[in-house]
Amino acid sequence: MRVILLGPPGAGKGTQAASIAKEVGISHISTGEMFRASLKEGTPLGLEAKKYMDSGELVPDDVVVGMVRERIQQPDCKEGFLLDGFPRTIIQAQKLDETLENDGLNMDLVINLVCNDKTVLSRLTGRRVCRNCGAIYHVENMPSKQSGICDECGGELYQRDDDKADTILNRLKVYRNSTEALIDYYRQKDLLKDVDANAQREETLKAMLVLIK
Ligand code: AMP
Repeated sequence: MRVILLGPPGAGKGTQAASIAKEVGISHISTGEMFRASLKEGTPLGLEAKKYMDSGELVPDDVVVGMVRERIQQPDCKEGFLLDGFPRTIIQAQKLDETLENDGLNMDLVINLVCNDKTVLSRLTGRRVCRNCGAIYHVENMPSKQSGICDECGGELYQRDDDKADTILNRLKVYRNSTEALIDYYRQKDLLKDVDANAQREETLKAMLVLIK
């Protein structure tokens, strides 16, 4: 099963993708997380990506597409994968289609997480992430058991630089200008299913699992 999660920043793509990957046993590919991991390691890719991430802009298509192409060819993606945060532009979507077609493959499903601005803002400002394993929390809706400490690995929780007020507004603008067009792109291919992401996390997850299973 090859699935894409679409939706604005803060819709819950990362949180839901992690739960689905666990439940269904497919690989979760988050391009944002891949960039953050590269940055932590201090690789040229991470340092290049940082220039864009800090201001909420998109990393250039060729950089992201190359990284994803390599990733989906890994053995753990043979049975399928769940893309979170990719594609974010029509060009990325076309390149993904080309890559899959070359291997005689295609996407099976695109889930569009529909979420209003109020929910998005509250989720982004309250989000905390584990510096070590990338697990996602929320200070009110999904707090860790011990404040500031990851339940999964004991790592330190931090607020992403791009989850601060100024950058959030730009990320939402970038979503509207570049990414939202993907909704029509995949609707025309008859792959798109809308899911209400304003609901409680468990309810949204249930609706997503029905579509995937
Ligand atoms: P995310 O963790 O998905 O919110 O991504 C964090 C940041 O990483 C984004 O604001 C972009 O700067 C960069 N990024 C992640 N995925 C992509 C992508 N598919 N295309 C371009 N930039 C991306």
